[in-house]
This record gives sequence, structure tokens and C-alpha cells, in this order.
Amino acid sequence: MKTERLLEIFTRHGIEVIFTPLQYSSGGLLQHGGRWYCLVSSCDSPARQRWTLAHELGHYFLHARPGLHGFFNDSAREREANRFAADLLMPAETVLAYWEALSNISDYKTKLKCMARQFGVSMQAMEIRLKEVKTDEFALDSTFSSTLCLSGAGNRAK
Ligand SMILES: [Zn+2]
Repeated sequence: MKTERLLEIFTRHGIEVIFTPLQYSSGGLLQHGGRWYCLVSSCDSPARQRWTLAHELGHYFLHARPGLHGFFNDSAREREANRFAADLLMPAETVLAYWEALSNISDYKTKLKCMARQFGVSMQAMEIRLKEVKTDEFALDSTFSSTLCLSGAGNRAK
């Protein structure tokens, strides 16, 4: 998803996005005077900012209640917001399709870098998502479980 599309979602829901230097956080969602605001650290890389936007959107749709304001810091809600962000920025089917399309590249790191650039996320976020998606895929069919072990070992070796 392009960053403009992401920002459009905020606009559509009346959430004002503010890019500002933040010292202790990458972002936050807050309500003030009946309006929602999403703060994004202007010090972060564009990839990190995209992740923050998607993550805060997750908080908005999953956890925001009228009257609530401040930052979220409990781990259950953080995990849910991260899951939302991953689904939004790196849809499972698209990730698998790109992974297949890059099958001619044998070097794992190179492949990962291409994927991260394609999805506009950090290599770390891409790697976590890739493992998750590939695990889900294999989990669908137990006959693939041995393949999963092999690919897992291969990735670790590189
Ligand atoms: Zn959060």
C-alpha cells in the first residue's frame, strides 16, 4: 500500500496526522477536543514512519474508544496493532506472490532487500512477516511440515 493511500485512510476518518520530533516513541494516537490525532516521529526513516502509521491505525480501529487519550503500552494491544499493520502493509498473499516471483534470486538477504523495498518496510519487518506468512502457508497442510523445518534451517544458516 502506497503511503498516500495510507494517509487517505486517516483523512477519511478525520484523524489528523502530525509529523513531529518525538524523543521516546515512534508515534502515538490521541484524542483531544473531540478530534483524533496520530503523531509520527519525524526523526524516523520513511519505512519506519509507514509502519507507525499502519500500527496507529490498528489502535484506532481495534482499541480507540471515545474519551480515551494517550499512548498504548500494554503488550496485548501492541501485538494486535502490529498484526494489523503487517496485514495492511504486507498482505499475506501478495508477500507469497512476490517471494515466488523472486525465486530466481538465490541469496536470501538480496531477496529480502528487494521485498522490503517493494513493500516500503524495514528489512526487519519484512523478515518477521515473511516467516509468519510462510509458516501460516505451511501450517495449512501438515504434509509441508518437514519442508518448513528444512527452509527454517536454511534461513538460519545464511
Ligand atoms: Zn502501539
